[in-house]
Amino acid sequence: MVSDTERAAALAAIAAASELCDRTQGRLADGQTLTKGDDSPVTVADFAAQAVVAMTLTRELGDVDIVGEEQAGDLEGDRSNTLRDGVVGLVREQAGDEIAPADVVGFIAAADADGTSDRYWTLDPIDGTKGFLRGDQYAIALALVERGEVILGLLGCPNLPNADGSRGAVFIAADGHCDAFFGASREAELVHVAETALVSSARFCESVESGHSDHGQAARIAELLGITSEPYRIDSQCKYAAVARGDASIYLRLPTRADYREKIWDHAAGKFVVEQAGGRVTDVDGEPLDFRHGRRLERNSGIVATNGRFHDEVVDAVRTVLGAG
Ligand code: AMP
Ligand code: MG
Repeated sequence: MVSDTERAAALAAIAAASELCDRTQGRLADGQTLTKGDDSPVTVADFAAQAVVAMTLTRELGDVDIVGEEQAGDLEGDRSNTLRDGVVGLVREQAGDEIAPADVVGFIAAADADGTSDRYWTLDPIDGTKGFLRGDQYAIALALVERGEVILGLLGCPNLPNADGSRGAVFIAADGHCDAFFGASREAELVHVAETALVSSARFCESVESGHSDHGQAARIAELLGITSEPYRIDSQCKYAAVARGDASIYLRLPTRADYREKIWDHAAGKFVVEQAGGRVTDVDGEPLDFRHGRRLERNSGIVATNGRFHDEVVDAVRTVLGAG
């Protein structure tokens, strides 16, 4: 069960983090980006967004388990405190109060749950950091997981272009439906996957980064399915948002390494947004995503998301191509 208080706290957290990231994109200074141990980039905005979400949830809901992507320890290597001071500045700008640096670091550090409890939140403060740095798409992704099932999923997509010419969207999925707020609108709109029933006329989306999803195999799968349109390449869980609102009807994430395990914060919110909008999400073997094994999807490989009309057909094509690889 998701309470009204949880829903409101989650929406407030996503709105605040989206504002913070939108204000920061394109104006990062030297020394405000770091390369983590796994070679992925992280910026002051990633840490600040994690602090703001953790602070909002904690203030509204008390002590909750949060599995956040970022680790406070990554701020410590920098003796000059350039990174930490940048993070504190952004959080103060957003929260409008004189929060102490130690408290900001404390909120980042508090989001260190391991994803094994009965009920936890999982947060990617900036999913698609490479897109964020390029000036393209990124998402703030937050989900609530109860006994391994996602029960609430939110995506903040501050840079997403909308059909009406506005920019930015927040998606919230729960209780059998997915709503979205587009641009500055305060009116929620119900979103639904596209009705496309013929797989050959479906558009598919995939990562911009070929290191995150195999583009060559996706092209072979598309060919096998008779899809002739160009792939829609877009960073982050905006891919799930695209399927949920019908901009595309398939999202393929094809492993580039046999030993890579997807992170729960990269998929929990997005997969629920697609499902509650009427679509289906599995791994490349057609198995449901299993959120009961900590910070990673240990029992799954890759992702296939569709509008639900031809899911098995897409999974069959994926298995054929991956099996032949
Ligand atoms: P995307 O925006 O689709 O390129 O996905 C971004 C996410 O890819 C990041 O949040 C990372 O956690 C994740 N990632 C990093 N390395 C890999 C990899 N080798 N395979 C799949 N995903 C990855
Ligand atoms: Mg991510």
